[in-house]
Amino acid sequence: MELINKDNDYLYYIKEIDNEKKYKLILFDLDGTLIKTKSKKKYPEDENDWEFFNDNVINIIKERYNTDNHLLFVLSNQYHLLKKEKKYNDFVKKIKNIDSIFRGENIFFNYIIAVEDDFYRKPLTGMFKVILDKVKKRDLKNSFFCGDAAGRSGDHAASDMYLAHNINLPFFVPEHIFNNEPMPVLNLPERPFLQCSPAPLPQLKMDKLFLLIIMGPPASGKSYLSKLMNEKYGGVILESDKIKSKEKIIEKAIVKLNNFNSVIIDATLPKKEDRENIKQTIRQKVQNEFRTYCIEMTTSRDLINQLNNFRCEYSENKIKKIPEIAYRVYYKYYQKPTVNEGFQYIFEYNPCIQFSNKIMQKVFNFYY
Ligand SMILES: [Mg+2]
Repeated sequence: MELINKDNDYLYYIKEIDNEKKYKLILFDLDGTLIKTKSKKKYPEDENDWEFFNDNVINIIKERYNTDNHLLFVLSNQYHLLKKEKKYNDFVKKIKNIDSIFRGENIFFNYIIAVEDDFYRKPLTGMFKVILDKVKKRDLKNSFFCGDAAGRSGDHAASDMYLAHNINLPFFVPEHIFNNEPMPVLNLPERPFLQCSPAPLPQLKMDKLFLLIIMGPPASGKSYLSKLMNEKYGGVILESDKIKSKEKIIEKAIVKLNNFNSVIIDATLPKKEDRENIKQTIRQKVQNEFRTYCIEMTTSRDLINQLNNFRCEYSENKIKKIPEIAYRVYYKYYQKPTVNEGFQYIFEYNPCIQFSNKIMQKVFNFYY
């Protein structure tokens, strides 16, 4: 068994699939589910620091899930595996070793390993999508996902339970499959930050042109609000995600305002100095009168996290997740906007994200 590196996105080994056959998909997490560390440490010390979850693992898989109509998969998150040489070498040795033991018992596993914090990392669904792309006929009623990250007290995460929810498969913990323990009652957490009704949009006066700066952390809903403001008040949207340089944004804003078009700038702009600089440069070069407005996104970190994951999930990795460091930088430089820096009106806005597209709404409501 050799793991194949797919564009540094994930590693996989998938045996030949008979596309005439309808398969039951039997999916297992690896660490804490099929195996655990011998040392009892959270992370393995080396390639030998593992043992099966218990003595029943091989027999139970053999007896229950090892017919021609079963497809066995390991879905494992191994963050930064390709960036850490020792971790990678240990992991490859370990997984080959595990695989050869399974093969010795006539058990043939397929493997998908997520190596980054992206669409492939559980609870995002990329690894399952890889399976769906390969396996054309699926008996999903008799499929399941088994993992130990189930949000129980003492669990390090709930990502396995969340994945099962997101891909709509039955979920079991390893104690249930391999120890015959009853399935614990698992509850998906309440998410008050998703319960909202849309607040009225900030009101702009329409007797003059306007320059509106919508600022806030990455993935806080700035573009979403820009579109709503544009639908109500018009104005050309200049998005810093698309127009990368500040100078270009300023340049375009000047042209638009001189041509009697209002402007909406959608950019993080945590620093007062940057906001002032944009406003002043534009003021100096625009003949027409215009008002300056600022809307600061006051989106909660929970909702930002939801949006950040949603964009990556919905775009199937085309939009990358914004790393934690970007937020630390934003908050490090953050200065609250005030009228003293020359805005005529400042609003705060906490978005209530809703999609009219049903699939988008469903994916937005995934557990991340
Ligand atoms: Mg695990």
